[in-house]
Amino acid sequence: MQLFSIFGNPVSHSRSPLMHNAVFKNLHYDACYTRTHLEDGTKLKETFFALGLSGANVTVPHKEAAFNACDEVRGFAKTVGVVNTLINENGKLIGYNTDADGFMYAIEEFKEIKHILVLGAGGTAKALCARFKQENLEVSLLNRSEGRLQYFKELSCTTYTWDDFELQKYDLVVNTTSAGLKDEELPAPKKIINAILENSSYVADAIYGKLTPFLQLAQKKGMTYKDGADMLLGQGVLANELFVKASLQKEAIKEEMQKSFLL
Ligand code: NDP
Repeated sequence: MQLFSIFGNPVSHSRSPLMHNAVFKNLHYDACYTRTHLEDGTKLKETFFALGLSGANVTVPHKEAAFNACDEVRGFAKTVGVVNTLINENGKLIGYNTDADGFMYAIEEFKEIKHILVLGAGGTAKALCARFKQENLEVSLLNRSEGRLQYFKELSCTTYTWDDFELQKYDLVVNTTSAGLKDEELPAPKKIINAILENSSYVADAIYGKLTPFLQLAQKKGMTYKDGADMLLGQGVLANELFVKASLQKEAIKEEMQKSFLL
């Protein structure tokens, strides 16, 4: 039997085990998916091999560490330096990124998106911004601190911190910070968030499984919003295809994962 896992901190909230195990069980693929709480991202590679894993997903805050841990990085993950899916290929650690395409799938229903404001500048923001730029979208980015902004400047995003933020009009605002994940914080001071929401058409959050304070505000304002569940589904389907080396049908994987959301 093959073993897969998700690495993160926190990781107890993750729905990935439920999703992948539903596929393995119902499509009769001989594998099991567990979760691993990891404090130190530099220990990712040795933990992966010590557990005898065939593959893994990586969540907050280890996606950049995962990139550094890989023997080889393929596809879009190479462009962004962020890895959320790991495959054991003959003892070598191969890295992929399925988050960005998962998010593009999630926002397909939002029409006429030209200008996006991204909140946060971590691994998820990097993947999404690079993907948005591939689509020639205008991207602004607001982060709590200056430290991580260089990558986004080089991508030609307009970047701000809370101190120098200049409000514009946005078709979509997306929260990629972990504010609201295990606390009740907003991704920026309330005054700024209120102004942003009042100037945006659609709202999305990468966090799933709870209505974050950010989405609660959007809901109060009667806006069209979605949490990270569809992004989770999109990235999960693509990761599972890599895990089973395309031996299962994509549509069947998606169907089983979707059903697992109802459990
Ligand atoms: P990272 O740790 O790489 O980045 C976190 C970012 O959030 C940083 O920019 C950080 O700012 C900012 N931040 C953290 N806490 C706060 C706060 N209290 N207020 C304002 N900003 C804050 O995280 P990831 O990019 O890996 O993940 C981000 C979120 O996206 C997580 O909640 C994760 O669960 C979710 N996610 C969901 C997915 C899905 O499938 N639905 C897929 C991927 C991620 P600073 O630079 O100042 O430290």
